[in-house]
Amino acid sequence: MSLDAVLARIDTDLDQSTARLMELLRIQSISTDPAFDAEVARAAEWLAADLRRIGFDASVRPTTGHPMVVAHGADDGPHVLFYGHYDVQPVDPLNLWHRDPFDPAIEEQNGVKVIRARGASDDNGQLMTFVEACRAWKAVTGKLPARVTIFFEGEEESGSPSLVPFLEANAEELRAEVALICDTGLFSDGTPGIVTQLRGMLQEEITITGPSIDLHSGMFGGVAMNPIRVLSGILANLHDAQGTVQVPGFYDGIPELSEELRAQWEGLGFNVEGFLGPVGLSHPAGEADRTPLEMIWSRPTAEVNGIWGGYTGAGFKTVLPSQAHAKISFRLVAGQDPLRLRENFRDWVQAQLPPDCSADFIAHGASPASTMDISHPAFDVARTALSEEWPNEAAFIGSGGSIPVAGYFKEILGMDSILAGFGRDDDAIHSPNEKYDLSSFHHGIRSWARILHGLSG
Ligand SMILES: [Zn+2]
Repeated sequence: MSLDAVLARIDTDLDQSTARLMELLRIQSISTDPAFDAEVARAAEWLAADLRRIGFDASVRPTTGHPMVVAHGADDGPHVLFYGHYDVQPVDPLNLWHRDPFDPAIEEQNGVKVIRARGASDDNGQLMTFVEACRAWKAVTGKLPARVTIFFEGEEESGSPSLVPFLEANAEELRAEVALICDTGLFSDGTPGIVTQLRGMLQEEITITGPSIDLHSGMFGGVAMNPIRVLSGILANLHDAQGTVQVPGFYDGIPELSEELRAQWEGLGFNVEGFLGPVGLSHPAGEADRTPLEMIWSRPTAEVNGIWGGYTGAGFKTVLPSQAHAKISFRLVAGQDPLRLRENFRDWVQAQLPPDCSADFIAHGASPASTMDISHPAFDVARTALSEEWPNEAAFIGSGGSIPVAGYFKEILGMDSILAGFGRDDDAIHSPNEKYDLSSFHHGIRSWARILHGLSG
């Protein structure tokens, strides 16, 4: 059977695969710093050349920023678009690295072999898992089991300024049945996850103004309204004692978790003490009737991110301030409209203002949540393939954060994304001494080989 032969080939070729990854990791593709522009371009060229060696029709495509790499396979089968990013984060503070971040090496960490370098996990090691899987299929069978288009970005770590225009200009070329994105992690050691729901975000800055100038708290205190008192009262009303957000309509339209997903999440054996313990906490603070995984993945939240006003410098000043400020963000889930929620929040604040106080708002970001339509058969194919490769069954999971490219694929190209990756929580991505477990790389390659096989039906 060809899959077994391909997997065997991956095992015997692992040293060469690792050597190729290390060659890529030697390129200093830091996208945010113009001093490295030539290196970013060199990484794109390196990838295109490597993909050509496997038989892809690959090109480096200029943008007004860093180039994209687009490569087409010539094979038949379901059409998939694979996405990864070849740019990396800056390496500062350099003195905290115990080796040159661009001189990759295999090291031992906690008894396991790791590939140490900037970009080893985020995202060069991850994107090469897919390239190596394609290489093994080509080497063993002469073709790929699916029609594969590869799309690599070089600006993910610097805000992706060219991504949307590029997708819009090349939508016909890039549109596939489904996207495969390798820029996430395992759920836990031995348990792969496919992220199918990403939360959105709404950010508001609020200023409460009371008196027209700062006042002496002895002369005016008690008579004049203090805007910090008003603001803190409003912020305290944001949640009730059960952790439920009190903004009217906040939970309207939010679907309940399906029984199937609930069962998958319960099967993950998530341990809240293990999650909160390392940050010095022990009790979940969100909605009392929800599990911690629901709170992070499928329920919306409201958080005060900053609050200031009055005198906060050294010593003491008995001021009754004219203004008080706060920054508040909401993580959103499917069914919530960020713009309607913004209006509801502002109305809710206004309704709580006492006489003589006013509220001004600054709108910061607003983006809806995105939920993948997992009815496309590729989702079950991927889940089955990952479950066969890893010790524990794969689950469809959520992500508390956001991965903008998945939203753009949906909006601009009309396709859902299968977000599967093999990073680990201790990979130190964006930090000194970034690493990728050699086993993540090895089993990541084998995972994609299995997924490609599954896609062929
Ligand atoms: Zn990344």
